Amino acid sequence: MKVLQVSAEIFPLLKTGGLADIAGALPAALKAAGCDVRVLLPGFAPIMGDLQSPTVLAELTTPWGERIVLRQGVLGALGLTAYVIDAPALYCRPGTPYEDAQRRPFQDNHRRFALLGWVAAKLASGLDAHWQPEVAHSHDWHAALTPAYLTFGPVQGKRVASVYTVHNLAYQGVFAPNNFFELGLPNAAFSVNGLEFHGQLSFMKAGLYYADHITTVSPSYAREIQTPEQGCGLDGLLRSRAHDLSGILNAVDEAVWNPATDAAIAHAFDAKKPAGKARCKAALQLELGLTEQAEAPLFGVVSRLTEQKGLHLVLAVLDELIARGGQLVVLGTGDAVLEAAFKARAAAHPHAVAVRIGYDEAFAHRIFAATDVTLVPSRFEPCGLTQMYGLKYGSLPLAHRVGGLADTVVDCALENLADGTANGFVFDDFTPEALARAMRRALALYERKSEWRSVRQRAMQQPLGWDKAAAQYVALYQRLLG
Ligand code: ADP
Repeated sequence: MKVLQVSAEIFPLLKTGGLADIAGALPAALKAAGCDVRVLLPGFAPIMGDLQSPTVLAELTTPWGERIVLRQGVLGALGLTAYVIDAPALYCRPGTPYEDAQRRPFQDNHRRFALLGWVAAKLASGLDAHWQPEVAHSHDWHAALTPAYLTFGPVQGKRVASVYTVHNLAYQGVFAPNNFFELGLPNAAFSVNGLEFHGQLSFMKAGLYYADHITTVSPSYAREIQTPEQGCGLDGLLRSRAHDLSGILNAVDEAVWNPATDAAIAHAFDAKKPAGKARCKAALQLELGLTEQAEAPLFGVVSRLTEQKGLHLVLAVLDELIARGGQLVVLGTGDAVLEAAFKARAAAHPHAVAVRIGYDEAFAHRIFAATDVTLVPSRFEPCGLTQMYGLKYGSLPLAHRVGGLADTVVDCALENLADGTANGFVFDDFTPEALARAMRRALALYERKSEWRSVRQRAMQQPLGWDKAAAQYVALYQRLLG
């Protein structure tokens, strides 16, 4: 089965969050499950730079009259055949893939990312004489016009099946309505039965409306986004498509996240031989100027610093954590107020709190390897990867019972300890008090050394690999292809 995966990011070349991890891991998992997978990506500099033996597949004129080149080659980092949209005027700029250096979204984002869908539809209709996808699987709003262009594009041969995966419904790609007329879609598509959303142009809605099937990244989130509380204004549409909507839980790329083989951490360890973890903890305490104390429970946060992630709750309970002998390390970037608040706490308690503002992949690995607890108090969380990385690295997750966190973290309540399912700490109310109680549970278990060790061992042994999710995607593709 030939599958074209369409996304804006791909690990390890370009990553702003979990989307890249999934886009980087899924092709290999699908290949292992028997699929013939290729990817379509925008030509950001790190992606262009990694493209081996590139050839020009086509020169194309976009619906708004810009010339672009579509290159084909193999991504060296992934050993994966890729189609890359070579358009430096659109993709090679200072800032993030989506925002300028002042964190303002680029004015032409509708063009920059409409191209993903537009080119995907061209590939689906036979642009590459040697390879035509049977399934076009697009990810998040950046690639969400793929099903719309497939619906309205020329069909040659069998129409490809379209799967659209929502990694985060909160980021929708909404633009002023006049931009619609640049995109080369028929006027009829700009309606309530299409990609019009309260008078605006919504890429997300295009994906949700036109895809043959919608997936999201955990079963709980698939249910939650059908409610007004978490539907971001799209819950009605999602309910109307409930039969074509399913949750497939993300997984961990064990080639990248494995404490037994991880070159980024100071000492290797695994569930059976965890001694290296204590050495990783000591090394991080030393590196960060925290009190070098093996017994101090060390909590970690690796996160975008945004409202979604619930980190104001961590600030609210931090004094209690310190008073109880705990330590905190934070790695993140984002909201300036949160950055300043965490930095201020680190300045006030330099031996108990360490904060690094920025994005640092290797440091993230060191944090999971060193910490005892990974904090994930998100207000909402489509899947969440850091709690799973915490599990792999024996850093028990402490999480809000929502979305993928609810699907992966089981509280250390007595009954769960007794039946061997406990792997972390879960709170229900999104309040500092509820988080504080979960934190106290974590600290109490931490005092019971042998119980802590056995929960940690089970957590580290939990199967979190991609094989299960890949089998679910393949079954879905097969069903759609009849
Ligand atoms: P989201 O996609 O909402 O940001 P996820 O938990 O799904 O959240 O994925 C976050 C990914 O980004 C993880 O791989 C995490 O380790 C990584 N990450 C987040 N912030 C940083 C950072 N400041 N430095 C390094 N890695 C980070």
